[in-house]
Amino acid sequence: MNTDVKKLQKIAREVAPTAIALRRTIHANPEIGNEEHDTTALVDATLRDIGIRPKVRLGHTGLTADLGTEGTLVGFRADLDGLPITEATDLPFASTNPGMMHACGHDGHTAIALGIALVLSQYGPLPGRARFIFQPAEETFPGGAFDMVREGVVDGVSALIAFHMDPSLPAGKVGLKIGPITSSSDRFEITINGPGGHTARSHDTVDAVYAAGRVVTELPTLLNRTLDARTPMSLVFGTIHGGKADNVIPTRVTMTGTVRILDRNTWDLLPDRVQTLVKEIIAPVGATADVHYQRGIPPVINDAGVLSEVEFAIHEVLGTQAVAETYASLGAEDFARFLDLVPGALMRLGSGLPDRTVDLHSASFDIDEDAIEYGILVGSASLIRLMQCEW
Ligand SMILES: [Zn+2]
Ligand SMILES: [Zn+2]
Repeated sequence: MNTDVKKLQKIAREVAPTAIALRRTIHANPEIGNEEHDTTALVDATLRDIGIRPKVRLGHTGLTADLGTEGTLVGFRADLDGLPITEATDLPFASTNPGMMHACGHDGHTAIALGIALVLSQYGPLPGRARFIFQPAEETFPGGAFDMVREGVVDGVSALIAFHMDPSLPAGKVGLKIGPITSSSDRFEITINGPGGHTARSHDTVDAVYAAGRVVTELPTLLNRTLDARTPMSLVFGTIHGGKADNVIPTRVTMTGTVRILDRNTWDLLPDRVQTLVKEIIAPVGATADVHYQRGIPPVINDAGVLSEVEFAIHEVLGTQAVAETYASLGAEDFARFLDLVPGALMRLGSGLPDRTVDLHSASFDIDEDAIEYGILVGSASLIRLMQCEW
């Protein structure tokens, strides 16, 4: 079944103002992770209005909704949460919730998902079924996707796609990349222990501050040297605390940070490797260490098969010039958790403002709203294509 491109473009154009209005309502009423009650209710009501009966998570935020009656089930994922940021834009629909803001474009992702549901429900008979996953708490660690996967929201889903707004690309462009597109993200806390003592006699005790210094400088380098250099990896310390007086060697120094890597298999090696290296680095000093390594989010690895269908869909509805090459980021996305179970792809949706560049998570973040119609169009066309693939 060939996609009726003209019909899809016409419906998407008609639906876009509604989706933009929804985006503005969501933008004005941001809620942070796991507190997206009003946003969940708005999505629920919008879908019910067009005859779709969503499943709202019992006692939680977030929901799923299925469209279509038979055939291959494919999915589109959107995230509902804003960030604990005080908005500094003068938009007429700026945040009305003090200290909270949609500064990562999730308002746009949710509006696009609703727009796709509106388009597909008007398009006519579909060659398969679509599931819309509206997840909470993408910005929390490790992310709302983990809970939803446990609840089985991707059971039976053959392919899953999602967009993330990209302020570095103009509206009308979609950034595609096969393989890793976002990084894993793990956290660690390392506590260096020693008996403490007088700074005049470090030879009589264990210099925990010196041991910590060795860890800060040696651990990133040694990790790099013992992993395949073709795999981008980043270990960075965010905090270091120890000691109270300039003439007292403290009994403990605590450091925390994150490790990020783009390779799924190497990610599995990291917890043990960090433990071993820390112990080896401090051994000559005589200190001991407690290493608490917390696994977080795996990297998002885009499936080549899913991506080729999306690329074809972009060619159909926007033209070949709309495809842009994009880069892998060391930021993390819990969409990766869904892709542990289902082949899928995360695309970067051009949403850069024509007159200024402002990064995600900035208090003055905004999107070019033209991105919403393009997202609806590409998302709808991609789902229709994916419904017709053999998985
Ligand atoms: Zn974000
Ligand atoms: Zn985001």
